[in-house]
Amino acid sequence: MTSNLKQVWFPGPLIVGAGPSGIATAACLKERGVPYLILEKETCLAPSWKLRTYERLKLHLPKQYCELPLMAFPPEFPTYPTKQQFISYLDAYVERFAVKPLFDMAVRVAEYDASIRFWRVEAGDLEFICRWLIVATGENAEVVWPEIRGISRFRGQLLHTSCYMKGDGHRGEKVLVVGSGNSGMEVALDLCDNDAKVSMVVRDKLHILPRELLGISTFGMSMALLKWLPVKAVDALLLFGTRLLLGDTEKYGIKRPAIGPLELKSAAGKTPVLDIGTFAKIKSGQIKVVPDINQFTSKGAEFVDGEHEEFDSIILATGYKSNVTSWLKEEEFFGEKDGFPRTSFPNSWRGKNGLYAAGFTRRGLLGASMDACKIAEDIANLYGAVDIRHKLNTITS
Ligand SMILES: Cc1cc2nc3c(=O)[nH]c(=O)nc-3n(C[C@H](O)[C@H](O)[C@H](O)COP(=O)(O)OP(=O)(O)OC[C@H]3O[C@@H](n4cnc5c(N)ncnc54)[C@H](O)[C@@H]3O)c2cc1C
Repeated sequence: MTSNLKQVWFPGPLIVGAGPSGIATAACLKERGVPYLILEKETCLAPSWKLRTYERLKLHLPKQYCELPLMAFPPEFPTYPTKQQFISYLDAYVERFAVKPLFDMAVRVAEYDASIRFWRVEAGDLEFICRWLIVATGENAEVVWPEIRGISRFRGQLLHTSCYMKGDGHRGEKVLVVGSGNSGMEVALDLCDNDAKVSMVVRDKLHILPRELLGISTFGMSMALLKWLPVKAVDALLLFGTRLLLGDTEKYGIKRPAIGPLELKSAAGKTPVLDIGTFAKIKSGQIKVVPDINQFTSKGAEFVDGEHEEFDSIILATGYKSNVTSWLKEEEFFGEKDGFPRTSFPNSWRGKNGLYAAGFTRRGLLGASMDACKIAEDIANLYGAVDIRHKLNTITS
């Protein structure tokens, strides 16, 4: 580590990242009387939501699964709050718990110093020294920019969904959406609603489920059924209901994986798409499903089936990845390939030497909230013990 930095010893945990996971952990620590510090690389709270999400975004899951600990959503919020409503909730949350991140403080390096048994964390011109380090930098810290042949040759507009705000700028255009996860599907729908001619690349097999079955949230129903039935049986019921509602997706170019949606989620972390109307547009032919891209050309794309099509714009809905391996010098708890904890939920929140992970469960805001509660409880117990020892030492010396 560089030595000309000003050293700051901090008695409580240091949280990296002021997204929902970081602020939830901060609130839980505050409730337990543990002082903390949050470092955030951007200049605002929850920048993933404020700066990198499209306008029509609503929470994908019903609100009761997206609340942070200790504070409910306002009762007037709809079942699926809008992005703006969620942001206003986060703003109210930090105000209520007086969470004050240090902004513009990107952590460059964090490393455990075994000789003093503390973490050394570099940000700005400071080196923080602390006993506990909470990684809350998110599963979606960096955009995934795919390596597709000829991508730099394309002369039209090329952007990632993180920069896509709304479809009205693409009215009348031919647009290719590359990727068919929840974001790709919703952006394709938004473009279609704004009179763009949309094609969407569906490369892999995927599960698409209606967001609601018989008026009940598919996610909520799955959670309830899993209390009584094995995962295979719940998957079979979900797929039966989906077939009745959506029909055979394979007929429209969307093949289903051999294993069911919930089993696949727990085995490989692959989230099913919750359909909010895109599939109807695919069925009616308003959104065209195309196979994987062989290469981009200056005017469009050539697909693996040999077809070539011209496009005005290409939108990469190719997702995000963790950035932990770029700054955390630790290889035992976080995997060096994907920057996620090596142990999966429910054991993904605590590593060794005072290292914690909040929001790496692949279970959205619900998982982040669970992490926040567990981490705060654990640290509060340890902090209490350290604090008492410190007070005893002070009294006796
Ligand atoms: C489009 C979209 C919709 C989603 N909808 C839902 C939903 O409806 N329900 C649900 O449960 N989940 C949803 N999720 C998933 C997840 O809940 C969100 O991504 C949520 O924002 C995760 O919170 P987080 O705090 O873990 O990560 P983030 O919100 O990404 O926050 C991480 C923070 O860490 C900061 N950071 C990163 N690196 C550093 C560094 N080196 N130093 C300092 N700061 C750093 C970032 O700037 C960021 O502010 C959605 C995700 C996306 C992308």
